[in-house]
Amino acid sequence: MTHDSHQDALLSVNHLVTQFPAKGKKNITVVDDISFDVKPGEIVAIVGESGSGKSITSQSIMGLLKSGGTIANGEILYQGHNLVEMSKKERRKLRGKEMSMIFQEPMSSLNPMLRVKTQIAEALKIHVPKQSPKERMEKVIELLKQVEIPNAETVATYFPHQLSGGMRQRVMIAIALAGEPNLLIADEPTTALDVTTQAQILALIKDLNSRNGTGVIFITHDLSVVADIADRVLVMYAGKIVEEATVYDLFENPQHPYTMGLMKAMP
Ligand code: ADP
Ligand code: MG
Repeated sequence: MTHDSHQDALLSVNHLVTQFPAKGKKNITVVDDISFDVKPGEIVAIVGESGSGKSITSQSIMGLLKSGGTIANGEILYQGHNLVEMSKKERRKLRGKEMSMIFQEPMSSLNPMLRVKTQIAEALKIHVPKQSPKERMEKVIELLKQVEIPNAETVATYFPHQLSGGMRQRVMIAIALAGEPNLLIADEPTTALDVTTQAQILALIKDLNSRNGTGVIFITHDLSVVADIADRVLVMYAGKIVEEATVYDLFENPQHPYTMGLMKAMP
């Protein structure tokens, strides 16, 4: 049934419930029966205040839940395959190859001990295992240029701590691009950045989407950034999706009081 009705979707989340264990009490439900689709080439934004369940939703999709977090109900169909029923090994295969994620704090996912070029090369290796080191290094430089890193050959030799926040985020995007993912989840990727860098990173994500047809889930607490980037917006509140609309409709005619609150908070 769900397979039929979501046939054209890249990702189809159906009645997802994610819980965490609580000492001596019932489990805490942090994602509470949410459903949405991402079509190939679509940019879907998830907007909601801090604590509304956005990151847990993305971790559920990526298979990266920590601290005993579990999917208690629902299905997550990626190209028709239910991720919830997949083994850890199968999920790992999908990450990096089919779906990638970038985070607000790239330091948490970059390896501090490895040079930029090594980290991008490792991501490339997953996608194209049989490639000469020379060819792979050319591709590394090409990716760094694609994310508009100046002096790419030099920056390639740097360690993460030698980069600014914006540069780290660009490297993270380069790593995500290396796997040529069909789906990119960007969890507040611009929140820690200044306005100019923020706009550049948004443009890069949009460019990746329009050039490669990558489906994107763009997560933010700031409604003002979604207008430029998203096709559709999901508003999340206390673990639920309280509103879903095109960007135009959301701004023209917000339905939920919570959405109106987010609009008042816009600069
Ligand atoms: P957002 O990304 O929207 O700011 P999160 O998805 O990180 O919010 O968190 C949603 C809710 O889940 C929050 O109320 C948070 O306290 C709770 N939560 C997150 N991680 C855990 C955990 N490891 N154990 C228990 N509750 C958690
Ligand atoms: Mg979050």
